[in-house]
Amino acid sequence: MPIHDFKSQRLFCNDSMEESGKRIWCTPLQINYLFNVLRLKNGNIILIFNGRDGEWYARLNQQDKRTCSLELISQNRPQTNGPDIQFLFAPLKRERLDYMVQKVTELGVAKIQPIYTKHTVANSINLKRIYDNVIKASQQCGILRIPEIRKPEKLLECLNSWDAERILIFSDENADVSSPIRVLEEVRRGKIAVLVGPEGGFSDYERNFLLDQLYVRRISLGPRIMRADTAAVAALALVNAVIGDWQNIS
Ligand code: SAH
Repeated sequence: MPIHDFKSQRLFCNDSMEESGKRIWCTPLQINYLFNVLRLKNGNIILIFNGRDGEWYARLNQQDKRTCSLELISQNRPQTNGPDIQFLFAPLKRERLDYMVQKVTELGVAKIQPIYTKHTVANSINLKRIYDNVIKASQQCGILRIPEIRKPEKLLECLNSWDAERILIFSDENADVSSPIRVLEEVRRGKIAVLVGPEGGFSDYERNFLLDQLYVRRISLGPRIMRADTAAVAALALVNAVIGDWQNIS
C-alpha cells in the first residue's frame, strides 16, 4: 500500500514520469527553490509529481550552480484524482485570493472557476498568480491532481451553459440556518460544484435565479456571516466529508 511520505520535499514538474532512470532537467526557478529555498544538496532525494503520473522519488544531480537534473528512481504513489468537485468563486482582493486558492487546492477540487457577480470587488483576475498558488499549495501538501484553472465567466453566463447533471451547492449567506449536512446527504455522489459569493454577497436577482435552477442545492453555513475565503473552506470541508472522499468510498 503506497504511503504518504510527509518527510520528503515535493516538487511539481510538468514532464511525463513513466519509468525509472528518466532524467528531467530543472528550470532556473526550480533550481532556486531546491537549493536556495529548501537548502537541498546534490544527491538528495525528493518527491516529484506532474498531476498525471502519480508521485515519484527522484535524485538531485547537480552539475553546477545553474544546471541540475532529477533522475527518476521509483514511483511512490500511483495517480489518484479525487472527487469531481468544481469550485466557483467571486475573485477577492490579492492576499485573500491567494489564501482561498491555496486552501481549495488542498481541499482537492478538480476545477477552479472564477465567476463575476454583481458585487464582485475585483474587476480583473491574474490567472498566472492563481496557477502559482495552486502549484505552491500542491507542493506543500500531498495532493496528486492539479486543479484545472478556468478563465473567469459572468455567473449568469456560466449558469446558462450549465451541465444539468452537475449539482451546484450554493452557499447562501441569506439562507435560513439549517443543517447543511442534511442537504448534502440528499445529494448523490458524482458531479458536484460549490459556489461561494463575493465580499458583498449575492444580489437578490442572482439568488432568485440560482434558486430557480433544479440542479441547485442551497446550504447555510450557520448563523454567522463568514468571509468568503473562510466560507470556501467550510463549504468544501462539508462537501468532502459528506459526498466527497473523506470517507472510505472503496
Ligand atoms: N460581507 C462579508 C461576507 C460576505 S459573504 C465580507 O465582507 O466578506 C461571502 C460569501 O461567503 C457569501 O456570498 C456566501 O457564499 C458565503 N457565506 C458567508 N457566510 C455564510 C453563511 N453563514 N452561510 C452560507 N454562506 C455563507
